[in-house]
Amino acid sequence: MSRITSSPQKRGRLFHGLTVTSALAALALLPAAFPATASVEAPVTEAAAESPLPSGNTDYRTLADYETDMDQLVSDHPDLVEPLTLPFPTSSGRTVRGIEITDNVSAKDGKPVFVTVGMHHGNEWPSGEMTMEYAIDLVNRAAAGDPEVTALLDQARVVVVPIVNVDGFVNNRRQTDTNVDMNRNYGFGWLPISTSGAEPWSEPEARNIEWLLTTRQATTFVTQHTCIQVVLYPPLQLKAGPTQDVDRLHDLASRMATHYGPGYIARDSAHDYETTGEAIDWAYFATRGLAITAETCPDRGVERTFETQVVDTYPEHRLAMNEGLINTASPEQHATITGKAPKDAVLRIERSFEMYTQPFTQEDGTERPEAFTTTHTSEMELPHPNGKFSWAVNPSYLPTPPYQAEGIVPDRTGFDDEQWILTCERPDGTVLQTVPVSVDLGESVEVNLQECKKNFHKKSIG
Ligand SMILES: [Zn+2]
Repeated sequence: MSRITSSPQKRGRLFHGLTVTSALAALALLPAAFPATASVEAPVTEAAAESPLPSGNTDYRTLADYETDMDQLVSDHPDLVEPLTLPFPTSSGRTVRGIEITDNVSAKDGKPVFVTVGMHHGNEWPSGEMTMEYAIDLVNRAAAGDPEVTALLDQARVVVVPIVNVDGFVNNRRQTDTNVDMNRNYGFGWLPISTSGAEPWSEPEARNIEWLLTTRQATTFVTQHTCIQVVLYPPLQLKAGPTQDVDRLHDLASRMATHYGPGYIARDSAHDYETTGEAIDWAYFATRGLAITAETCPDRGVERTFETQVVDTYPEHRLAMNEGLINTASPEQHATITGKAPKDAVLRIERSFEMYTQPFTQEDGTERPEAFTTTHTSEMELPHPNGKFSWAVNPSYLPTPPYQAEGIVPDRTGFDDEQWILTCERPDGTVLQTVPVSVDLGESVEVNLQECKKNFHKKSIG
């Protein structure tokens, strides 16, 4: 497929589409009060040439198109959309970008986070398209006052990164520019196979996703791929055994698969085909957020075109993504820390723990796993005078992992309490109180921050 498919007019066409969509949605809500002005009517005639996608697009985006679309969402809806730049440029120096979407988006207000990303594999273009379309759709619906989306964005934050492997996309190839399959490069359970990179986390693209999921409380993570009809969850290998949250994972994956259609199967990744070092395995064991690989594809025998892979699949994709967002918003699907802190205090939670690759032959000739540290941290700000807060977090109890210092441990049923260390700070970073917090899935724990309150307005000595 050719990469240069977009014309200079494309941007105009796209945002015609946006205008029409949101204007029509607004009209549907306010049939009597909304005047049918010429500016609303004019694009409707042109809409006939557009697709039913939220953008109205009829062809794949270029990288510039993605960036323009994200910029436009930010500038049109600054209260709803914020830009996001991932910290590591690709191996060829390209920037990886995304957006965050929620109401009052600039507030660090402790909402649970739904992360959805496309194009770990740079030649799986529909995965980026549908991720971007979902972002446009959410914003359009929120801006038009759609009650379901408004309620969900009141309770959850959505982070969208349509292209995580930007070099691969630009070159229309699966791997990164270092010839690594970034979805074999995640450190947890990593093995040195031909495409997994020289070492765990060697690729900046994989480290970007590590950063994304460890600097916020992502309780649902969906990574899009093509082209199979399947919705997958951990583990990646049969010898790892089922995960402790298999029922929750299977439940979400099944609901998503049902939306995608009768040909779709929800199953653990190991029973699809065994792999190592994929995003979802590390994500689940590092955060206990539900981590899903969604692979979409037209039915067997149907030609693979933009129409069949993107336009026809998108309405089902939207419903599948809404399941992720509903899961994120549900208090049973995360943990909650509550309390009362001084107005303008900054709260921070942090924890660090070791995770392991599989045993492999190291440079010194011995066969053993390699350790790496996962550090997970987030902060919350308290602008409200009464200082009351409710913070949706990943549980402190993490599933005991199959890949450990002593090798592979297949039969695990328990959880390890990787306590959060909560600090109450002045805005200048002075730590006034430190509290360890253990909190389980679906549980709410109140912390006492009296000491922080007592010292918050005291002048420092000297
Ligand atoms: Zn893929």
